[in-house]
Amino acid sequence: LDAPLYADLAGDLNVSFEFFPPKTEKMEEQLWSAIETLTPLGPKFVSVTYGAGGSTRERTHNTVARIAKETPLAAAAHLTCVAASKDEIAEVADAYWDAGVRHIVALRGDPPVAGAKFEAHPQGYQGAAELVDGLVKRHPFEISVAAYPETHPDAASAQGDLDNLKRKLDAGATRAITQFFFEPDTFFRFRDTAAAAGISADIIPGIMPVSNFAAVQRMSAMCNTDVPLWMGRLFEGLDTLPAARQLVSATLAAELCRKLYAGGVRDFHFYTLNRAELSYAICHLLGLRPEKSA
Ligand code: FAD
Repeated sequence: LDAPLYADLAGDLNVSFEFFPPKTEKMEEQLWSAIETLTPLGPKFVSVTYGAGGSTRERTHNTVARIAKETPLAAAAHLTCVAASKDEIAEVADAYWDAGVRHIVALRGDPPVAGAKFEAHPQGYQGAAELVDGLVKRHPFEISVAAYPETHPDAASAQGDLDNLKRKLDAGATRAITQFFFEPDTFFRFRDTAAAAGISADIIPGIMPVSNFAAVQRMSAMCNTDVPLWMGRLFEGLDTLPAARQLVSATLAAELCRKLYAGGVRDFHFYTLNRAELSYAICHLLGLRPEKSA
């Protein structure tokens, strides 16, 4: 792919940043420091994840509500169907609406026990498409949903997974954010197949800067993401060299983004893991600069 030089990238991007709700005071400090660093880049929105089985219900709510109240950022709350009835989900949605939150990332979620099969709550939603439908009927939220360039592990087929994505968008979602992936062609192929299936909504690549290769390998195995062999070789021997690892990681993610940019992508969603530096560096390499008023 004939990618432009970094110096030629115009910074004409829309970025969004994903955080997780902090568990301890120290993690809380880290999160707010990350938010402070990334805010001047003018993200389109920032989102906060929802722990397995609704385990972070309070913490996700408090974090999103605080972002909505104390920062100029548009805050999005992740919400899942796991272990919750439709009434309980309606309560959570109402609390977000009352706190001024207007954007939900609507997900089915995974069971709290890793590797277990998803079972809907007896009075709950069967999956994300139903959740989207329930949410938009309750309040006119902006809704994002998940998409899987390498197909969700529970899907019967790639086509079935795409049909499901279409159902989520038809139910009222406005955009899809992808699971992370490491080869630009993985995204381009998926974007083309989705377009051919009549999906016209934005599909935003989810970018995972790799700060811990072993952890990323474990996560990738669980969610069907291919980890190319060359990536393993790149991180070889860096376990005890965190600074070198960061540099390799930033380079790798920036290269992926540069190639996506060359293929017309202008929206990027970063899985920040509550650390600003890697995401900031990648945005900077892509030409993004702090907003003048910030
Ligand atoms: P769905 O869209 O409901 O799909 C789940 C599976 O069921 C797919 O394989 C789909 O093809 C299949 N399916 C659905 N309906 C049908 C049907 N009618 N017939 C046949 N097959 C069907 N998890 C969390 O717990 N908290 C988070 O905050 C969180 N944030 C995420 C953010 C992003 C951007 C992404 C990509 C994932 C996130 N996840 C999160 C993970 C997600 O919850 C899991 O991947 C989960 O297993 C699937 O959720 P979904 O919303 O994609 O499910």
